[in-house]
Amino acid sequence: MRARICIPILLLALPAFVCGQTPANPTPKMPPKKTTAAEIQKSAIIIDTHADTPQRFVDEHFNLGDPLNGGNLNLDSIHKGNLGAEFFSIWVEPGLYKGQYARRTLELIDSVKQQVAKYPDQIMFVATPEGIEYAHRTHKFAALMGIEGGHSIENSLALLRQYYALGVRYMTLTWSNSNDWADSSGDVDDKSVPHTKEGLTEFGKDVVYEMNRLGMMVDISHVSDRTFYRTLVITRAPVIASHSGARALCNAPRNMTDDMLRAVANSGGPNSKGGVVQVNFFSGFVSQAYWDAMKAQAPEREKAVADAKEKAKTEGREFTYADEEKIQRSYMDRIPRPPLSMLIDHIDHIAKVAGVDHVGLGSDFDGVSGQLPEGLDSPTDLPKITIALSERGYSAADIQKILGGNLLRVFREVEAVSKELQAEERPRISEKQPFDKPQK
Ligand SMILES: [Zn+2]
Repeated sequence: MRARICIPILLLALPAFVCGQTPANPTPKMPPKKTTAAEIQKSAIIIDTHADTPQRFVDEHFNLGDPLNGGNLNLDSIHKGNLGAEFFSIWVEPGLYKGQYARRTLELIDSVKQQVAKYPDQIMFVATPEGIEYAHRTHKFAALMGIEGGHSIENSLALLRQYYALGVRYMTLTWSNSNDWADSSGDVDDKSVPHTKEGLTEFGKDVVYEMNRLGMMVDISHVSDRTFYRTLVITRAPVIASHSGARALCNAPRNMTDDMLRAVANSGGPNSKGGVVQVNFFSGFVSQAYWDAMKAQAPEREKAVADAKEKAKTEGREFTYADEEKIQRSYMDRIPRPPLSMLIDHIDHIAKVAGVDHVGLGSDFDGVSGQLPEGLDSPTDLPKITIALSERGYSAADIQKILGGNLLRVFREVEAVSKELQAEERPRISEKQPFDKPQK
């Protein structure tokens, strides 16, 4: 076929070398054009793995089409910053909703689906890596869900499976509260809270296995260090940290040591390409100075919350999470915001320690009382991250991995492992159910 190209009429149009002859005047080689930050931003599939906006959907009747009004995420900012996909956090406040964890979980899940139904021309509900890519191709914003806190499953693998069926694609094994089967970094030193012996109970191990088998990403953000390592020993799929930073830069228990960063990169077994750490934007996990100031403020801040709670009680009023958040925010607003460069330092650190294939973005938008680095208030500001990474010498390909490519790779592998596990002949864990009947 090749010879047919060289018919005389084409010879006139084609350069001589197409027909195997050396051109008389070869065109001088131009250096490859460097992709600009704006071009990278425009073409990348940008994935954020953590936003707490569902609390606003349910409690404030906030819609994504509304102005931000003190929040961090809405459709306008999503489009301006070219955010391609968001994992909305399904987080049940453990104190307020005691006895109603499943109900609140379902209401939050429903709130995400209601938003999708409200803006079908702009938002697409997806639950697969291909879904994220399809939404990107069709210029729609992909909405996904992750559960924050294993207490949502109420010690029931049946609930876990049904949450998967509803489209939940990751679960942090704990939030700031330890549950019956896994320990949290939030209360691991609190002697009044019961903890597991080894980080995970036998049921906790079943939860991890069942997540692997279903194809739900195991998320180790929030867990205690011991629970982290116990999980990494047993997981068959690579894990994610949906919203955590580097402890070497900011010594908060929610952040990860260098050893843990490397362990995530190596998670999932010998044939795995490894997991990913999605960097949290919260000022308290980005900057040591901010974290220290926040700790120093804690007694005063907590007293103000306790006083307001007491006042509401004597007045016979309900004290909501939004009430508490308002007080917390008024205190934290007094602490200076760290510069954006400090957030980039975390991305840079994780890329150097764990590898550029193992870092991404997990903003925690709408979950940190507005405490974000300077100039980073919504997805509108995401291009600043791309520009900063570009200025630090990251290639276009590497930036695209950080913005979403790494998460897509892990998501795909988690699905592939799930197919392998489903093909294995193993006694079904479900036969043990119900695991934990309510005590009479
Ligand atoms: Zn969180």
